[in-house]
Amino acid sequence: MINFVQQEIENDLKAGKYTEGIHTRFPPEPNGYLHIGHAKSVCLNFGLALHNGGLCNLRFDDTNPTKEDVEFVDSIQEDIKWLGFDWGDRKFFASDYFGKFYDYAVELIKRGLAYVDDLSAEEIRAYRGTLTEAGKESPWRNRSVEENLDLFTRMKAGEFPDGSKVLRAKIDMASPNINMRDPVIYRITRATHHHTGDDWLIYPMYDFAHPLEDAIEGITHSVCTLEFEDHRPFYDWLLESLGFDVNTRPRQIEFARLDLTNTITSKRKLRQLVEENHVRGWDDPRMPTLCGLRRRGFTPAAIKDFCERIGVAKSNSVVDIAMLEHCVREDLNDSADRVMAVLDPLKVILTNVDDGVEYLTAENHPKRGGSRFVPFTREIFIDREDFMEDAPKKFFRLKPGGEVRLKYAYIIKCNEVIKNTAGEVVELHCTIDPTSKSGGATAGRKIKGTIHWVSAKFALPAEVRLYDYLLTTDAQGNLPEDFIAALNPNSLIVKQALIEPSVRWTNAGTHYQFLRLGYFVVDPDTTPDKLVFNRVVGLKDTWAKVKDR
Ligand code: ATP
Ligand code: MG
Repeated sequence: MINFVQQEIENDLKAGKYTEGIHTRFPPEPNGYLHIGHAKSVCLNFGLALHNGGLCNLRFDDTNPTKEDVEFVDSIQEDIKWLGFDWGDRKFFASDYFGKFYDYAVELIKRGLAYVDDLSAEEIRAYRGTLTEAGKESPWRNRSVEENLDLFTRMKAGEFPDGSKVLRAKIDMASPNINMRDPVIYRITRATHHHTGDDWLIYPMYDFAHPLEDAIEGITHSVCTLEFEDHRPFYDWLLESLGFDVNTRPRQIEFARLDLTNTITSKRKLRQLVEENHVRGWDDPRMPTLCGLRRRGFTPAAIKDFCERIGVAKSNSVVDIAMLEHCVREDLNDSADRVMAVLDPLKVILTNVDDGVEYLTAENHPKRGGSRFVPFTREIFIDREDFMEDAPKKFFRLKPGGEVRLKYAYIIKCNEVIKNTAGEVVELHCTIDPTSKSGGATAGRKIKGTIHWVSAKFALPAEVRLYDYLLTTDAQGNLPEDFIAALNPNSLIVKQALIEPSVRWTNAGTHYQFLRLGYFVVDPDTTPDKLVFNRVVGLKDTWAKVKDR
């Protein structure tokens, strides 16, 4: 693992800091499902711990009482485990530290570094100043320590209505960094918390709670995204003010968040997609949530590989989603068995084949080998796309009078095209060249095209779900402001397909390459009577092409 965060850790160790070992944390707020952006943070935090022989905590940052849920706490753990990381017995809830946060706030007051302010939220905003103008001090800023202690105790006891008072850090209203202009650290909110119930009427602000959570857990490196860079001075001020030793206390390091083309990575927007039923749920295979990607057939190995390849940068950029697709394609190319399925069946009658069945040997995987039998019969189905009536010269699949090879089987010739009254092609009559059997003596006869097929008698019906990006972008690849308007109406196409019988006893989560069509995974909607597949990705690797250019 070589990235600038690791470099910083090594510098710290060389400087004699953190002699007790490296300790990181992944701190999700349980207000949504984890998405691909979180995966980057999970891989980085757990990865740094692994690389340095240290530890990584899972900490639910549940200091905000109003929008959190147990459903999310459970899903987050499931998703991290699925990625293959382990927090051991170090699963924590920030809300467990509410008592400690309160004590630290009291300590700040005692040190003359915090005060109770009676200004309204609006007034506080007006007094804060701007980027070019200094802020103004609150008239309540110079209350005595005794008065502040008394008022803060009474805030906790519920003597004042919501929003009537706040506790603020006393730093510098003229600081060029607005985050240092006496930030609010506690507010009064009568809300039921999913973990602490109605125990608390006052809640700490994120910027106050987070450094303390880190310090309480003995975190050494608090890795977060770039938008917190301007908050770092307060992070350091708080720990310094409370007397934490600079050689052991946590330090915050910011990295660039992951943004992906065609992809939403805002929890609020993902929630909107679910709540307004634009998708089938958090685990809809079109969602960039980890449970959605899992159902779609993305593998932990592919996601981790992707996170490693994109690296860790200090400035934000947008990563092409084709790169993530490239990673899963590489993984599945190695692991997925090959089978034949037909998505748009067109019947072919092989007029010189008898009614029986011939079992042909088909290779499961080009590298790992293994084989199975596929039944070959007089009636088969091919994909409609592989036949063209008025074919251009370069069309090397089936056309009237033309020849093509059936994979693992024979070369066939198209003699007759049968149409319905509407003029649509409904059936082809072909003959096989019996001397051209794959692996046989004359099998080497030169022929340009090879297509996949299934036996009409033995093929199994299967519902195949083909996905496209949930969002369409403009020519520059940007998402419009109104992302609901950018929803792609063709993001899900369902095909009633036919698949070779070897997959009859398959299980949800099993991957296959459908020859020539892409990588697919068995969906959990599969029942003993009905096979359901999701297309993970097609075979065409646009990322590999970009790379080669
Ligand atoms: P919110 O908008 O609700 O704050 P969030 O995306 O920050 O959402 P958190 O649950 O706070 O979600 O995130 C947990 C951790 O994951 C944080 O440390 C955060 O920095 C990191 N993280 C979130 N989104 C991304 C992203 N797109 N890329 C990298 N890391 C991310
Ligand atoms: Mg956050």
